[in-house]
Amino acid sequence: MSSFNDVLKKSFSNLPIFFHNLQRINPNTFMCIKKDSYNRFQFCFVALGCMIRMFLTYMILIIFVGHVPLIGTYITSMYIAVALDGNHELLLITFALGTINCDESWVWFMRRLKECLGDSTEVGFISHMTKSIYFAVRRVYPDSYHGYCCKNIAEKIQDSTISNTVVEQLLQNEVNGNDLHWLDNIVIAKWVRAFFPLKHELPITTIIQMVHDSMQGVYIQRATFGVNFTGEFHGLLTPYALKVLQKRFIHSDGCRVRHIVGDRYDVSKYLTTEFVQLEDGICTCGKWQKCGIPCDHAIASLQRLEIEEIQQMVNLKLTTAVYQNTFQIETVNPIPILMHWKYQLKVFSSYLHDNLLEL
Ligand SMILES: [Zn+2]
Repeated sequence: MSSFNDVLKKSFSNLPIFFHNLQRINPNTFMCIKKDSYNRFQFCFVALGCMIRMFLTYMILIIFVGHVPLIGTYITSMYIAVALDGNHELLLITFALGTINCDESWVWFMRRLKECLGDSTEVGFISHMTKSIYFAVRRVYPDSYHGYCCKNIAEKIQDSTISNTVVEQLLQNEVNGNDLHWLDNIVIAKWVRAFFPLKHELPITTIIQMVHDSMQGVYIQRATFGVNFTGEFHGLLTPYALKVLQKRFIHSDGCRVRHIVGDRYDVSKYLTTEFVQLEDGICTCGKWQKCGIPCDHAIASLQRLEIEEIQQMVNLKLTTAVYQNTFQIETVNPIPILMHWKYQLKVFSSYLHDNLLEL
């Protein structure tokens, strides 16, 4: 009878065939295994095709990256990249499992991420302030924005009553230096534990299966949520975007507007004056272009418009129509049952042998 340790080891040698089956049913899925010079497992990287498409097409291109320690002999680290969907809820883009958490492992993770997203995709990164992540982002994405996250900001992800969107605050780097709490202890770790309750050491294929199944559940749940969107404004915007817009609509009351020419305005509030260009969707405060929701100043410039009309100016990624379509079109397909694996095992036996991992 095989021991649990044998089961754990066997799951590594099963990994290539497991990946093959997962990939077969989830088109354009990107997977990768890294071994060391002794042919021992170091890392694996997983990005389901639907997650990559979802991010590139329907989400604001800001990625939260973080590390979660796992209990285990062989797998001790989970690397996570998540982003916010149109309703500002976290959604997994990619993850990796591996042994050590160091500069080299982060560079490897960021390189695989870049391969998935394409060289020309411009993304911003938010993470906790560790040297390894900073190093990797600078190395792989030298021109990208890299901000940091703290507890106050992280908590606001849950708080839909704020007027600034979470991403805006992160991009403005509104971090209180005395109150830094690492992102992996706040957002990502909390999120990972809620979605993938990994309390014991498990075979690597089981961990991946759990993450996969959990994501399948999230996609189904959000598809159902999207169908049920209702609202006093006919549900044009996602609940989150609508709340932000309503708050800004109220705040725009305190602005003094001076028309310059055409679609251009100077808007003063308190002691600051911002410059708005309506047709280009630009305000010098930066909020509109960063998050796709018109800021107080832009709304004030549109003072003759009703909120229903201003909704048309919000980025499409934050509309209910896109949200609903997204989660209808993109689904996480179930991994084939073991019976089908066996057949594949025969076909790919030579491949498997070549990739046999020694631990
Ligand atoms: Zn503004």
